[in-house]
Amino acid sequence: MDLQTRHLFPALNNQSTVYLDSASSCQLPACVIESINDYLRTGHGNPHRGMYAFSEKAEAIYHNCRSKIAQFINCDDTQIIFTQGTTESINLVAHNFRDKITAAHSILVTQMEHHANLLPWQRLCEQTGARLNLLRLNRNAELDTSELEHLLNDNCALMAVAHCGNVTGTVNPVSQMVALARQYKVATLIDGAQAIAHHGVDVEAIGCDFYAFSGHKMYGPSGIGALYCRYPGNLSPLKLGGGIVNRVTDHQYHLVDDVTRFEAGSANIIGIVGLGAALDFLAQWQIDELHAHEMALVSQLQSLIDSDIYQIISHRDASSIISLTSKPFHSHDIATILAEAQIAVRAGHHCAQPCLTALGLKQCLRLSVGIYNTPDDIEQAACALNSVFRILS
Ligand code: PLP
Repeated sequence: MDLQTRHLFPALNNQSTVYLDSASSCQLPACVIESINDYLRTGHGNPHRGMYAFSEKAEAIYHNCRSKIAQFINCDDTQIIFTQGTTESINLVAHNFRDKITAAHSILVTQMEHHANLLPWQRLCEQTGARLNLLRLNRNAELDTSELEHLLNDNCALMAVAHCGNVTGTVNPVSQMVALARQYKVATLIDGAQAIAHHGVDVEAIGCDFYAFSGHKMYGPSGIGALYCRYPGNLSPLKLGGGIVNRVTDHQYHLVDDVTRFEAGSANIIGIVGLGAALDFLAQWQIDELHAHEMALVSQLQSLIDSDIYQIISHRDASSIISLTSKPFHSHDIATILAEAQIAVRAGHHCAQPCLTALGLKQCLRLSVGIYNTPDDIEQAACALNSVFRILS
C-alpha cells in the first residue's frame, strides 16, 4: 500500500532527498509548519501568565494538546506531563525512584535499550547500590524472555523496556511483559520513542505505569514530548520554578496538585502548537494503513539488498527499521556514499552500544521509513547500497 503523502512534506516535495532516517527525526508536514507559523503570526503568549488574548490563546492550545495526546494513547488528560521528549520523561521517572529504592532492590532493563533508557538507570543503581539486571538480546534480535520472571522476582522495583528497538526494530511483547511485572508488583516504564508513530499505542491495554515519547519522531517539532503517568499524584517534579505553585513563602513552597506541577518554567508553547498539529495529522490515517505502508517498504528493501555485501541484523518483522552490516565496509563510509547520492541514512552505534555489543557488532547502518517514503525511495536506496562495493573496492 502506497500512501502517497510525500507532497505534504515541503522539505521532501521540493528537493530530491531520499529521507530514510525518520527513526532519528521525522520531516514535518506543511500543516505542522503552518500551525507554528499561524500561531506566531496571530500573537504569541506565555500560557498561564497573562489575562490578554495572546496568553489565553496559548493557554487554550496548551490544554488542547494535552487532551489530544491523552486521546491518542487512550488515557486521561490528568495523566499527561509535557517534557522535552523521551529522554527527559525517563529522567523524571528515574529521579522519582531515587528515594524509593535501596541496595536491596533491582531495576530491570534490556540489552536492546537506547542509552536514554539505560544511563538514568545505571546512575540510579550507582547512587543507591541497587542491582541493574538486563534481559538478554539474542542474535534473532529478540529479547530472551525466558529469564523475565526470574529477574522480576529479584526484588525488582521497576522494569524499563523499549516498545520498539531503535536498532533492531523489534516490537517487544510489552503487554505480556507488563502483565507479568504487575504480578510481581513491579512498576513498568515503556520507552515508546520508536513506536508512537508506527504502532497503535494504547496505554490502558499495555497496562504500564509510564510511557515516554518524543514529538520529533511523530512528525512534530524537536524539544517537546510527553510522559504518560498512571498515578502522577505519587511523583515529585524534576524541576522547580515558576508556574507550579499555590503559595510560596520565604522558606516554603506549596505545589499545585495537577500535572502542571511537573512543568516548571515557561512552556515550550511553539513545540506544543506543532505537536498538537502533528497529532491531528497522524489522526487522519488508520494505524493499520500506516503499518502496512511501512512494512511493504521494509520488505521491498529486504528483498532488493545484495546479500553478498550486506547482512540484515534487524528483526525479520521490523516494520519501519532495517539495520545492516557489511563485513568489508564501515557504516560511516557507506552512509557518506549514500549522502553523496542524496540518500539520508544513519550510521554508527545509534546510542545503543550494549545492543550492538549483544549483536556482536560495534556499528551498523540503519535505514528507517516514515509515512512519506515511496517504493521509488527504496529502489534508489537499494541501488546506491548495492553499488557501494564497486565504489569502495
Ligand atoms: N528511546 C529510543 C528508543 C530512541 O530511539 C530515542 C531516540 O532516538 C530516544 C529514546 C531518545 O529520544 P529523544 O532524543 O527524543 O529524547
